[in-house]
Amino acid sequence: MTHKIVVIGADAAGMAAAHQALRAARRTGREVSIVAYEATSHTSYSACGLPYLVAGQVDSQEALVARTAEQHRAAGIDLRMGTRVTAVDLDARTLTAQGHHGVEETGYDDLVIATGAAPVVPDWAQDEDGDPLPGTGAVSTLDDGREWLDRMAAGGDVIVAGGGYIGLEMVEAALARGHRCTLLTRGRFMHTLDSEMRQRLVETMRKAGVDVREGAEVTGLDVEAGRVTGARTADGQHVPGELVVLAMGLSPRTELVSGQVPLGRRGGLLPDSRGRVDPARGVWAAGDCCEVHHRLLDEPHFLPLGTHANKLGRAMGDNLADPDSRLTFDGALGTAITRFVGGDQYLEIAMTGLTEEVAGEAGLDVLAATLEGNTASGYMPEAEPIAIKVVAERSTRRLLGAQIMGGHGAGKRIDAAAATLWLGGTVDDLAWMDLAYAPPFATAWEVLSVAARRVAERL
Ligand SMILES: Cc1cc2nc3c(=O)[nH]c(=O)nc-3n(C[C@H](O)[C@H](O)[C@H](O)COP(=O)(O)OP(=O)(O)OC[C@H]3O[C@@H](n4cnc5c(N)ncnc54)[C@H](O)[C@@H]3O)c2cc1C
Repeated sequence: MTHKIVVIGADAAGMAAAHQALRAARRTGREVSIVAYEATSHTSYSACGLPYLVAGQVDSQEALVARTAEQHRAAGIDLRMGTRVTAVDLDARTLTAQGHHGVEETGYDDLVIATGAAPVVPDWAQDEDGDPLPGTGAVSTLDDGREWLDRMAAGGDVIVAGGGYIGLEMVEAALARGHRCTLLTRGRFMHTLDSEMRQRLVETMRKAGVDVREGAEVTGLDVEAGRVTGARTADGQHVPGELVVLAMGLSPRTELVSGQVPLGRRGGLLPDSRGRVDPARGVWAAGDCCEVHHRLLDEPHFLPLGTHANKLGRAMGDNLADPDSRLTFDGALGTAITRFVGGDQYLEIAMTGLTEEVAGEAGLDVLAATLEGNTASGYMPEAEPIAIKVVAERSTRRLLGAQIMGGHGAGKRIDAAAATLWLGGTVDDLAWMDLAYAPPFATAWEVLSVAARRVAERL
């Protein structure tokens, strides 16, 4: 009998799962049918590219689309666009969906929840009807990207509210479009970095003319004649600006099943490494609606990144159609990379594992060192400054984390540190492993190895 899989949410996690389930079904000779519901009119696009679309570095919205609805359908997925799932009964294995054609109710054998996460939109950014104030909006969907292109074309000073990587990337976009820009953040900017590393980024942004204000919680917007004219902060500051980017974090979209399955500390679903949430009731989940296993802290963390959505989605799809599947998603380390470009300033920012601050809070006895060097041999024109911080555990010499800031070619060095962490390596491993060297790319002693060696020598 045909096994019916229903997917809610047709972007990274949901579609990775759907296609891999079809591949696994072909491999194992099983018969599966897949129905996917997508509330919006967009599927399988790179939200990660939105800031670069807004900046004008990506030619068109279409360039961000990895697979069209027609391509999904041609592969054998019954994709229902513009159709929102409004209710799910996990005990009865039924759901209700509402779209252009009215309301439908359907049953399933397995349910994939891939509903993503919703950007936080505070009350002060909305009018009485709950609509966003003019000039104000998040950066989450393709439609948001198009709206930001239009808003920036209309001109005005930009305020970015929120101190994470999306806020940082939207600052870059605003500068690229010729806007003045202020970044306001309630707590510390880029809190996934240790203070002194973060400070390097803040200084670079200030050199590019960005007004970075930490500890500045936005509590309201000034509106005159229906137009936003500025933001007010809890400590009494008035910041002028006509355009307000809301980059204040995300919350997992789990309302369809909350109360029916356990949720994590941040409200995310808690799938295992195969994507199973509740095997007895055929419930699976992946992507930003979930928390993922943090390999170092050994607990679920909310790390809403496309790289995790794609990996767990694919592993889950394989397991959906093959009970003997070998694919599992074995957690995350908090590895991330971004960059800042403004005026003549260019900085790549990358991190993996625990910061010195977080490792200390977790009760680990840590030793850390920061090294400044070059991305290439000093005599080469490619050479640019790089700073690397390495964090290790004293008693075991285990690598706990690394943070990198520097010029072109600096950031992706984080992958060697992430691989070492993934395999449970020590700072000695990282100091002595066989990393590539030629003058245009590195120094004879690779700077990441030297940073690790510096920690190793002090242990
Ligand atoms: C500006 C920006 C930059 C980013 N940059 C990076 C980056 O550099 N690196 C990185 O790894 N990640 C990045 N990300 C994160 C990455 O885009 C997400 O982690 C990824 O899209 C998550 O995929 P998902 O399938 O879980 O959720 P989503 O992509 O959010 O998809 C969920 C889908 O479910 C649909 N849906 C929700 N509820 C329902 C319902 N009830 N019925 C029907 N459909 C529903 C939604 O409409 C949506 O299409 C970025 C995100 C943004 C916004």
